[in-house]
Parts: sequence; C-alpha cells; structure tokens
Amino acid sequence: MQMKKILLIYTGGTIGMMKDPETGSLKSFNFEELSKQAPELKRFAYAIDVHSFNPIIDSSNMQPEAWVRIAELIFSAYDAYDGFVILHGSDTMAYTASALSFMFEDLAKPVVLTGSQLPVGEIRTDARENLVTAIEIAASDHPIIPEVCIYFDYKLYRGNRASKYNSVKFEAFQSVNYPALAEAGVHIRYNTEFIMPVNKNKLQIHTKLDPSVGLLKLFPGITESFVQAILKTPGMKALVLEAFGSGNAPTDPWFIDALQMAIEQGIIIYDVTQCGGGTVELGLYETSASLKSIGVIGGSDITTESAIAKLMYLLGKGLSKQEIEALLPQSLRGEMMNG
Ligand code: ASP
Repeated sequence: MQMKKILLIYTGGTIGMMKDPETGSLKSFNFEELSKQAPELKRFAYAIDVHSFNPIIDSSNMQPEAWVRIAELIFSAYDAYDGFVILHGSDTMAYTASALSFMFEDLAKPVVLTGSQLPVGEIRTDARENLVTAIEIAASDHPIIPEVCIYFDYKLYRGNRASKYNSVKFEAFQSVNYPALAEAGVHIRYNTEFIMPVNKNKLQIHTKLDPSVGLLKLFPGITESFVQAILKTPGMKALVLEAFGSGNAPTDPWFIDALQMAIEQGIIIYDVTQCGGGTVELGLYETSASLKSIGVIGGSDITTESAIAKLMYLLGKGLSKQEIEALLPQSLRGEMMNG
C-alpha cells in the first residue's frame, strides 16, 4: 500500500504561540519550533509536507484573501495529497471552515482544520491530541471524509455547522444543529450516516468572494438611528440579520419600513437566529410575519459564520439579487436544513 500523503498548512493561532517574556502576551513561533514541541509528528507512517504562512497570524487577523490563498494552495496540491490539515487559530476557525466549504465544490478529500486552546509547548496542552488526531482523520479511508471539517477536543464537526462557543474550555466548538461527524476515544468512531458521500465529479474552486456583507444583531432597545446607519453602509449588498428566537424582530413600523426600503434598494437580508441552535421559521410568529412579507430570506438553521461566508461566496459569483435570494434557503454544502 502506498504511503498516505498529508499536506499540513500552518496559518498560526495559539497552537504555535509562546509567552513573550517581556510583555507576557502570546506571540507566534515558526513551524520548526512547533514541530520540536510535537515529536509525535515524526512517528506517523504518513508523508507529511508542511506549508507555513509567512507571517503566521493570529486568526483575528484572518481575511478573505487568506481564505483564497488556502483554497488555491489546496487546489494546486489536490492530486498529490490524500488529505489536508490546516492549523488555524480557533477564534475565526468557523468562518474559515465555512468559507472553504463554499469555495470548494465537489470536494472528495478531507480538509481538516484544527488548533488548540493552549500552546503546544505547555504541559497541559490540547494541541498534540488535536493535531495528531486531525492528521489521522485526514489520512482515513474508512471512511474518507470529503468535507471541510473542524477537529477539536475529540470531536469532528462539519466546518460550516460549527461555532466557537467557549474561549477557555478545551471543548471550544459546538455544532448544535448537526451531529458530530466523528468522535475520538480509544477508536475514532465515524458517524457515517452524517458524512457526505464521496462523489466522482472533478473538484471546482470558487475564489471570488465579495465581502460587501453586513451583520446586524438585534437587541431590545435598538435605536432607529443605529439600524439606519447599518442599512446605509456604503457598498453593502447583503445583511445577515441576527434575529431573536425563530427569526423574530420588533414589529415597530420604523424598523419594518427601514428594512423594506433597504430591500427595495437592492440589499439582500438573510435572517438567522441568534440562539445557539434551532431554526428560523419566518411567519411562525406575528413578529416575523412582516419580515417574510417584505422579502427577508429565512436562513433555517444556518450559523452566523456560515451565513456570512455563503453571502460572500454567492455575491462573488456575480449572481443577481433574485438568483441569490433563490439560493439562500437551499443547502449548498450541507450548511443548513433546506428551508
Ligand atoms: N487568538 C487565537 C487565534 O484565534 C486563539 C486560538 O488560537 O485559539 O489565533
């Protein structure tokens, strides 16, 4: 049997940081240092090549241009490797995973993002387990995971279903609306019924992303001037509305009128729930019926991270407002239940 080949892409994050003795804050170190702290990497019976970002970044500095770099790198190396592992800060990992899931169409190999809550050099670090098991999963062929996923704290999640929910627990991610794809214990148990089937189509890559997207989280007491300021953001083409519960919002005429005017002026409004889980059902309550009637699109059980990435992807394709609005209630990469 041929030796499995894995490409490890190091973008940065806590996993490869150490304390600056002068300032006390965490800063990044290069891959050579990281691999010294994780000698397990040499024990794999896989050929592991490394590509490191230069400079490596804290994921709070992650931008769509970097998503494109990662996607292009994977695309150009696609035939030469069996799987891909991306070391990434956990803060924006769910955004990157969501964006990559849309950028790849007909993915047939695993792309696993991982990182850690403690640097690899710390005694109690979670980095080694995350890294080692992510590589194991990327090399698996029983089953092959043809998805962009996040591996963290013994669980493998569909990347566009996961969110970072805890900044201090090793269990930093949750996927409330979709079951874990795998759980690692003594054995790695794959939940095959939830993993996408491998298809035989040729991988396509979409690297045009349009970040002309906004995010408005509702709260009781939100003012008209604030909502107006957001809706009048120059150049904004689409807005994710983080609404209450099952997609509900205030019924005040000023609020509905403001959204209606924005929609008439060409802005797409995508309603997601600010609850960690559950689904948007526009029209279930009176407080969402008018949103539906003015043309707000319901985001079913999509995460905010995924909604933002999906809009950037669809806007980047240069589709019309009507075409995008027709695609938003549909699951394109398993990111939501069909609405
Ligand atoms: N600030 C870090 C980052 O996202 C946190 C982490 O890696 O977990 O890059």
